[in-house]
Amino acid sequence: MRATFAGVGEAFDETLPNTSILVETDTASLLLDCGFTAPGALRRAAGDAVLDLDMIYISHYHGDHYFGLPALLVRFIEEGRKRPLKILGKTGIRGRVNRLMDMAYPNAPSRAEFETYFIECGPGEEIRHAGVNFEFALGDHPMPCLAVRLTADGKSLYYSGDGRPTDATRSLAAGCGLVIHEAFVLDGETPGHGSVDSALAFAAEAGAHACALVHLNRTVRRNQKDAVLARLAETHDLHAFLPEPGDTFTI
Ligand SMILES: [Zn+2]
Repeated sequence: MRATFAGVGEAFDETLPNTSILVETDTASLLLDCGFTAPGALRRAAGDAVLDLDMIYISHYHGDHYFGLPALLVRFIEEGRKRPLKILGKTGIRGRVNRLMDMAYPNAPSRAEFETYFIECGPGEEIRHAGVNFEFALGDHPMPCLAVRLTADGKSLYYSGDGRPTDATRSLAAGCGLVIHEAFVLDGETPGHGSVDSALAFAAEAGAHACALVHLNRTVRRNQKDAVLARLAETHDLHAFLPEPGDTFTI
């Protein structure tokens, strides 16, 4: 299982694309979140591998996590894509995406030569598509966000989406090889978001081998990056890192 970090930024960072991660397994290719600045970054990071995408998972309905879908889908239409596409998300995913397409490019879907299937996901559910097992739990975020655990090829990956850890997400992440967690601030408490400290503690408690921190607040990343890297270097028995766009990690 391989993760490619197309984007690693928060919502409004002018230098980093929104957090969006391509996960490739032996049987499937899927994208975790697709915010407004993600599609171009995904092309830059993954090239033609984007054309093999089977599934897109949307963790929650903030624009920096799904407003990139029209650009991604319309380019697929222009490229004559034939491969079916599954879009997974919380209750209402079909209506949300259809409304978004209707506002952005209302005539494009009629030209699509591929089928799009919508799959609703909920906390505590377990589903399986294309050889990938999906499990979900709610994190603590103002817009309810479904963290996801992916299992394939005997490996597991956890992605928080946005939000502070909860008891449910701690259980979900237990035993995952890679934890990808949002960390909005360095330490302390921020309503609805995690911190570097809480994400590292979360990954250590999960027994993860590696922890990638994403979605760092743009001001923190600009002014406190050295302090963040110093904190990562202090971890033991856990490879903690701050990925850049285009970085890959194999689990
Ligand atoms: Zn959010």
